[in-house]
This record gives sequence, structure tokens and C-alpha cells, in this order.
Amino acid sequence: MLDVRASSESDSPVAGYKGRRVRKVPLDHWDEVERETVERLPEDIDGTKVYVINGLSKNKDTLQLLKDGRRWKKNGPTNWQGHKRVRYADCKGSSIYENENCPYKQQYGIINRTQFEKRSRKDTTTVCKGCGNLPKVISCPGRRYISYERKSVTVYHCGEHTCPVVKKFEKKLNVLKNW
Ligand SMILES: [Zn+2]
Ligand SMILES: [Zn+2]
Repeated sequence: MLDVRASSESDSPVAGYKGRRVRKVPLDHWDEVERETVERLPEDIDGTKVYVINGLSKNKDTLQLLKDGRRWKKNGPTNWQGHKRVRYADCKGSSIYENENCPYKQQYGIINRTQFEKRSRKDTTTVCKGCGNLPKVISCPGRRYISYERKSVTVYHCGEHTCPVVKKFEKKLNVLKNW
């Protein structure tokens, strides 16, 4: 059933780049949140959290430590008072393909929520790895801000993800499959 009123309300506030809504999350959103010191980000990062990674040096691969189980869009700069350099990124969201006849569903017995690929090198449309059909795309409100200091980074995360955590072994599986 199509609820016209609800759909027109949802796209009311500030329309940003390409009609995308620009959300501003104020720094005081994390005022009450405990800072957790970690070696690296958790795979299932979610909700309102602050993570601090200390002891960074040239020998440590900071990007690797900032990897989690979410798929982030390209990050962009933002200004926070009292912070030297802050970048933020929104979650890419996820895809779902629910068709009983998809070979993925038949092989694994579950709906495909993680195995997608580009249709071809030229056509970058995302399709189901099992059947090559177009999935349904689910947007995700997850966002993270990364504040860089000389020897540490602090990650401010907000939003409850609607996307599934991409497990490391699934990432590896993809690599194997492409060999
Ligand atoms: Zn499929
Ligand atoms: Zn997400």
C-alpha cells in the first residue's frame, strides 16, 4: 500500500548534493559517550560510540586499523572546533535480493544480503552474484567521523546500521573466487 503523505514528508529537510539530505551531527552528540580505547575498530561498529586508537606511527597502517565491517562511501572533510583534521563518511547501505530461484538462495538456504558485484567492467550497476539480477537497495543512516591527531585517531560513530556486517571471511571468499 502506498502512503503518499509519508513519502512526501520524508524528503522535506535540506536537500543537498543531488537531492541527498545533508545531516549535520553536532559534536555534543557524543558528550555523554564513554571513550573506548581500542587496537582497531570493531567489525560490528554501530550506534553512538567513540573509539580512540593510540600509538600510531609511520610503521602502523592506520587505514587497516580503521577498517570495520561496514562499507563506507568516499569520505569528505568537515570542520569541528578544536579538532585539527576531521573526515566523515556515510554508510553505503546494503543490497538484498529475495528470489526463491536465485542460485545463492538455493545453495545457502538464505537470502543474499552480502554477495553482490558490478555487472561488468563497463557497466558498474550492482547485481546479485548468484543470478545477475538487480537487488533492492536499502539505505543506511550509519555515519562515522574520524578526527586525526599526530599519534592517534578518534572515531565518532552514530546511527543504527540497517546493513549487515561484512565478515572478513566473506571478503576473503570473494578474493578466492576471483582467482
Ligand atoms: Zn540472485
Ligand atoms: Zn550501514
